[in-house]
Amino acid sequence: MATTTARPFLVHGAQLRRQVGTRWHEVRHGVIEDLACSGSAVPEDAEVEADVVLESVVGGVAVAGTVRARWVGTCRRCLEPATDTLVVPVREHFTEGGDGEETYPLHDGEVDLEPMVRDAVLLELPQAPLCRPECLGLCPWCGVNRNEEQCTCEPPRRERWAALDALKGLEGSAGTAGPEGTGRR
Ligand SMILES: [Zn+2]
Ligand SMILES: [Zn+2]
Repeated sequence: MATTTARPFLVHGAQLRRQVGTRWHEVRHGVIEDLACSGSAVPEDAEVEADVVLESVVGGVAVAGTVRARWVGTCRRCLEPATDTLVVPVREHFTEGGDGEETYPLHDGEVDLEPMVRDAVLLELPQAPLCRPECLGLCPWCGVNRNEEQCTCEPPRRERWAALDALKGLEGSAGTAGPEGTGRR
């Protein structure tokens, strides 16, 4: 646990708990350490944002809104850097005695949004990111980055269609009941 005195995600909730139905909008920014999965991570100095409405409800505080975080990683297709911003919807409850499973804890009426923000980001960080959805990746034969260069490793399109046609012909002659795929795309 970080022992810094600045806790940007801590909301002093005394005001909130005065009356059921009280609502309060909060936008908080801060650095949260160790936001990473195997494929991507939030940069160490990048702030995460929580933009939420807190509402006093019977037994605790309801929190709903969005969490935003920039991440960086390596594109799974072309191995170049990949980056984007996560926008994660959140809707959680904070209660006295909450343990982070069903509900998050309230301590003396204080709502610490950080565990919720951390969980939301960790769940959404991409395990196998793409630099962009249409990334063409590396050529499996010569290794060039197909986003930047064209190579001649692949057979011309005409021949590929011919091969597909031949396959279809084979399937046709074998009847329509055969469930086994060839794994070709
Ligand atoms: Zn890529
Ligand atoms: Zn190639």
